[in-house]
Amino acid sequence: MTVAVLVEHRGDQVAAPTLEILTLARSLGTPVAVWLGGTPSADAVALLGRYGATEVRHGDAGDAGRLPEVAAALLEEASADAATVLMVSTFVNKETATRLALATGAGMVVDAAGAALVDGHIETDQTVFAATWNVRTRIETDKAIVGLRPNTTQAVEAGPSAHPALVEIAADLPATAVTVTAIEHVAQDEGVPLAEAPVVVSGGRGTNGDYTLIREFAELLGGAVGASRDATDEGWISHEHMVGQTGTTVTPALYVACGISGAVHHRGGMQASGTVVAINLDPDAPIFEISDFGVVGSLFDVIPQAIETIKAHRGQ
Ligand SMILES: Cc1cc2nc3c(=O)[nH]c(=O)nc-3n(C[C@H](O)[C@H](O)[C@H](O)COP(=O)(O)OP(=O)(O)OC[C@H]3O[C@@H](n4cnc5c(N)ncnc54)[C@H](O)[C@@H]3O)c2cc1C
Repeated sequence: MTVAVLVEHRGDQVAAPTLEILTLARSLGTPVAVWLGGTPSADAVALLGRYGATEVRHGDAGDAGRLPEVAAALLEEASADAATVLMVSTFVNKETATRLALATGAGMVVDAAGAALVDGHIETDQTVFAATWNVRTRIETDKAIVGLRPNTTQAVEAGPSAHPALVEIAADLPATAVTVTAIEHVAQDEGVPLAEAPVVVSGGRGTNGDYTLIREFAELLGGAVGASRDATDEGWISHEHMVGQTGTTVTPALYVACGISGAVHHRGGMQASGTVVAINLDPDAPIFEISDFGVVGSLFDVIPQAIETIKAHRGQ
């Protein structure tokens, strides 16, 4: 059974969640990777092969390929023989998935934390209502489309693989009501993108605008820097760092909330994280209700000690 995996990439760089999804795809059938946009390099194709892609199907519609309706048309062609289509649950992909579901009649779940093949049907797990409920959903249709959150599967190489073939695909592209006139890349912070990061260290109002320790701690842990909305509204850090209902939803293995009270709007965007650590002066802060590990104290005292201890442990 073919499982098509839509590759998330920036230029030629395959984003880490794609490798997680390819790993999951191996448990559901025979993975093929679908690469939309400029031609992937031999290295990128080989990487996808190491994670289980038996074939890389490539479709390019130029700038128009950025439009979900165009991406959906290419993906429909590339996944025509696939019983399951998997992709990272980004905003754009959710729209692409919806259009694909409409065109093919497939059942669809987005923001899933996992998928399994049960009695010939895809079942997904996800958290809903600000991560207060866990839901298992069975997709009854023959074709299933699933959007998966990053960091929900451990990426594991499939072992030595034959170099997957690069297969060109073409599709009748739909007429679109809009035209892409320019694409400008916004400068991003160095390091892992927030939504994909395996570790997120977030600072809130308790930082009082000083993110030096938060950044240092995040870098030490190989993670990304997050923030509460109050912090971004204050202009202490840019809005791309906001975690929560109106910000980015993150599901890292480790989420460290520093000087964040844990308002419901913030929790909705991070509550499904693996392990939650909170550092807060107030022992009654709501963030402690959902923390696996809490430290009552000032982040300005606690983080330096944590950094020192981790470095000593690593022999740095
Ligand atoms: C419609 C709507 C959508 C929203 N969406 C979001 C969203 O997406 N994301 C989001 O984050 N918020 C969102 N909010 C805002 C949210 O309700 C809270 O106001 C916000 O999350 C609070 O940010 P905070 O925890 O940094 O600040 P506060 O609630 O003021 O908490 C600061 C915390 O820092 C602690 N503290 C102070 N000094 C220190 C110190 N030195 N060391 C350690 N701890 C210290 C305090 O004890 C306190 O608990 C939204 C609100 C609305 C109405």
